[in-house]
Amino acid sequence: MLSRDARTGGDIALRLVNRFGGDRVVTDRATRALYASDSTENEPHTPRAIVYPKSVDEIRALLEIAREARCPVTSRVAGLNVGGLAIPAEGGIVCDLSRMNRILDVNRSEQYALVEPGVTWGDLKERLAAAGDEFVVNYPLAPPETSVLACCLMDGLGTLTMRYGSMGEWVNGVEAVLADGTVVRTGAASVSPVWFSRGPLPDLTGLFINFQGTTGIVTKLALQLWPKRRLRERVIVPAYEWAGAFEFSRRIARTGLFDECGGFSWPAAKMLFGVAVPVGRAPAEPAIFFAVDVSADTHAELALKRAILADTIRGVRALGFHFDAPLDVNALIAASPGFSQFSDLPTRLTFLIDNPGGGLTWIGAYGPMSTMEEAARDGFCVMARHGFPPLLVTRPMKGGHYAVMRFVETFRRADPADVARIRALHAELVEVVLDAGYIPYKLPPSLVPAVMRRMDPGARDLLQRVKAAVDAQHILNPGKLGF
Ligand SMILES: Cc1cc2nc3c(=O)[nH]c(=O)nc-3n(C[C@H](O)[C@H](O)[C@H](O)COP(=O)(O)OP(=O)(O)OC[C@H]3O[C@@H](n4cnc5c(N)ncnc54)[C@H](O)[C@@H]3O)c2cc1C
Repeated sequence: MLSRDARTGGDIALRLVNRFGGDRVVTDRATRALYASDSTENEPHTPRAIVYPKSVDEIRALLEIAREARCPVTSRVAGLNVGGLAIPAEGGIVCDLSRMNRILDVNRSEQYALVEPGVTWGDLKERLAAAGDEFVVNYPLAPPETSVLACCLMDGLGTLTMRYGSMGEWVNGVEAVLADGTVVRTGAASVSPVWFSRGPLPDLTGLFINFQGTTGIVTKLALQLWPKRRLRERVIVPAYEWAGAFEFSRRIARTGLFDECGGFSWPAAKMLFGVAVPVGRAPAEPAIFFAVDVSADTHAELALKRAILADTIRGVRALGFHFDAPLDVNALIAASPGFSQFSDLPTRLTFLIDNPGGGLTWIGAYGPMSTMEEAARDGFCVMARHGFPPLLVTRPMKGGHYAVMRFVETFRRADPADVARIRALHAELVEVVLDAGYIPYKLPPSLVPAVMRRMDPGARDLLQRVKAAVDAQHILNPGKLGF
């Protein structure tokens, strides 16, 4: 609805209402405030309007109005990226894509799903179950109401990234609307009616991945599916020393036999059981818990994989490291229902999302397996100095070709001193991860300068030229990636 408090650009709001109707253009102060910020320390900016398009033609119409008014447009679905990436430019338009939420195809032969931006992880899981439960995808630790397509565009990660790589690699192609209204289709679907692969032509799909909505509004995305094994079990492996833990995860990744080996450091366990700010670990407590997923088509295959897991644990114990025997997650849930948050994804990690201070932020980075210990050790030192517990989520990626380290913090979002503390922490932490050869993914605007300083100048220049070629007016999600 068009409200009197739409601060500026009454004209543009009127044009939007005329085109989309009053029920799909919102300008009231309360709703605009909801879209102005996220759970992080990133600066809020209030949009002038939120528009809910339902089709590609409507997105083109929205962009035409925005171009004429030189008004920024930020795409968004749930806004839960935890990096300030869907915070709009001040006075811009938010293009809320949650109503474009059709699963257009589940292709069983070439094994992909074709989704619109508003399709959530919860929707996709339900649809795959209804279609015979034949396939799995890479569920993140994100809540079920978040967007599959946005996660892929941000090169996210989840339960199958140790096996198959980050989500950007799962994309066979996209359909996108450029700032000038051109509609492009990339990947095999640029020629073939079937969205079967990313190649074999020049990889235009990459123009939209990790670009944070600055190069186009993606309206369709083909996501690879993988056959679901008949049997699956998740075990928790507690490890007591960091060096042993990383060695264990390296060895598990190299077997090529397991789906997941996600590590959660001890503060996560304490927070799961109600400790708001964990202060210390007793020497008798594990440093990190690994969630290891084992899947198989037969009981014999499962038994073999269990035996290889036990062997891997024996191998790291022989180096002098302390590990407990694997614990079946269902037994843990029976003893304590809180563990169910770690048993099946997508999930709602309430101890993070509903933490009392309301603030949730992190630096998540992809980088070399060889410097995991260094990155963790130096990262924890900086966190401790700023008064934060060493909350880390880590896993090997793509068979151990690289790893992820995510340093997570909760904080009091309404307290300016706490926000300042987070900003000071991140300014130091980003240098630590970069020194260890890691690169932040879902790069938050505040970390862009640190990354750009280290980027190859030719690559930096090329990025600017690409941006200018597809969005000459710089209206798409300005302020991100240094654009
Ligand atoms: C507790 C918690 C745990 C999480 N765990 C994980 C995890 O394990 N792995 C993981 O990958 N993520 C994780 N996330 C982050 C995030 O929730 C997911 O990646 C999610 O799928 C993103 O969806 P969204 O709807 O929140 O995206 P949004 O925040 O709405 O959008 C993200 C970005 O994509 C852009 N964008 C959105 N739609 C389009 C479009 N159609 N075209 C172009 N650009 C677009 C936006 O402008 C923005 O830059 C977690 C989040 C929370 C809160």
